[in-house]
Amino acid sequence: MAPPEIADLVVVNTCGFIDPAKEESIEALLVACAAAHSRGAEVAAIGCLVERYRDELARELPDVDVLCGFEIDPLLGKLRELSGGGRAPQAPARRHRSLHTYLKVSDGCDRRCTFCAIPLIKGRYAITPPEDILALAESALARGSREFVLVGQDVSRYDAPEYGGLPRLLADLAALGPAWIRLLYLQPDGITDELLAAIGRSAVHYLDLPLQHASASVLRRMRRGGDAESFLALLARVRAALPGVALRSTFITGFPGEDDVDFARLVEFVREARLSVAGVFPFDPQEGTPAASLGDQVPVDVREQRAARLAHVIEEAAADYWSGLVGRRLEVLVERGCRGGRGEGVGRIAAQAPDVDGVTYVTGVGLRRGQLVTATVDGTVGFDLTARTD
Ligand code: SF4
Repeated sequence: MAPPEIADLVVVNTCGFIDPAKEESIEALLVACAAAHSRGAEVAAIGCLVERYRDELARELPDVDVLCGFEIDPLLGKLRELSGGGRAPQAPARRHRSLHTYLKVSDGCDRRCTFCAIPLIKGRYAITPPEDILALAESALARGSREFVLVGQDVSRYDAPEYGGLPRLLADLAALGPAWIRLLYLQPDGITDELLAAIGRSAVHYLDLPLQHASASVLRRMRRGGDAESFLALLARVRAALPGVALRSTFITGFPGEDDVDFARLVEFVREARLSVAGVFPFDPQEGTPAASLGDQVPVDVREQRAARLAHVIEEAAADYWSGLVGRRLEVLVERGCRGGRGEGVGRIAAQAPDVDGVTYVTGVGLRRGQLVTATVDGTVGFDLTARTD
C-alpha cells in the first residue's frame, strides 16, 4: 500500500455513526481531494458515511472521484482502470503491520437502543461464518499478528448454526496459538457463566461492557434495561469468575430526560463499580433515531459539563485499579522494541486494549517487537504504566 503522498488513488474510509465522526470524515475527504488532485491523483470515499448519505455526498462533494458504500465493485473498477485494465491489483503487503488483528465476528444489530444509528446504517445482525473468522485469524498469525480482538456490535450474541457460540469460537481461536485473545462490545445481558468460563480458559481477563447509564429510568428510555443494582451484581459475578479482570465501559451523559437525580446515580455507580477505564460521551442526537425527537432534551452545555464531571470521577475511581498493579509481575506485549542494550520499549499489559486504552513503557535489554516479556510494574501515569523486566 503506497503512502497517500504518492498513491494514484487515495482511499478515505468514512464513518457515519455520530456527528463528530461524520465531520472528521468530510474534513479528511476535503484534505485528500486538495492534496491528491493537485498532483493528478484521485480520491475514493468508502464506508458507512457513503452508505448512509450517498446522494448528499455526490451533491456536496463533487470532487470525490469514487463513492463506494458497503459494495466493493466501484472501488475495484477504479483500481482496474488505474492499473490499465485487466484484473484488479491485489493489495501488496503492508509496510508496517500492527501486532493485533480485529476479527469482526458479526455486523449489524437487532437491538433498538433509541440513541443509536447503527441498525439504520448496518442493518440486521448477521454473523461472520466461523470458518471465515478462523481463516482470517490463521493468515494474520502467519503475518506476525500476536493478538486477536473480537469485535461486532453485539459480540456476546455470536451463535453459528451447527457450530455453536463464542465458547467454541474462543477455543478454536486459542488453539491457533495467539499470545492473547480479547473480546470487545459484550452486551451486559449476554454475559453467561458459560461465556465467562470460556473467557477464563481462552482469553485475557478483560471485559468491555457498554453499560451506557446506571439510572433505571434513563436505561428504560434508552430501551436497554438494567439498573445500577443489576449491573453491580453482574460486575461481582464477572470478578468472581475472572480474578483481576480489567473492566471497560462507556456511558452517555445528558440523555433526554436525565435529571440531577439520574446523573447523581450514575456518578455513584461509577464510584462503586471500580472500572479500570471508561469512555464518556455527551448525548449527541442522531438523525432518524427515536431519542433525537424525545421530549426533555438536556441543554448541550449541561450534557458536556456532566460528561467532563463523569470522566473525572472515572479517572479517580480507576486510579485504585492501576496503582494496585504497582509491584506486580505482569506480561507485556512489546509493540515497539529497543535496539542493542538496555532501553525503553512500549507495549501493553492484558488490561490495556490496543487503540483505545493506555500503554506500558517498559525498560529492559534487547526488547523485541512482538515479544511477550514479564515485567514488574513500577509506576502509573494516568492510564499508562511504567515497568521493568529486571
Ligand atoms: S446494542 Fe449497540 S449497536 Fe445495537 S442498537 Fe444498541 S448501541 Fe446500537
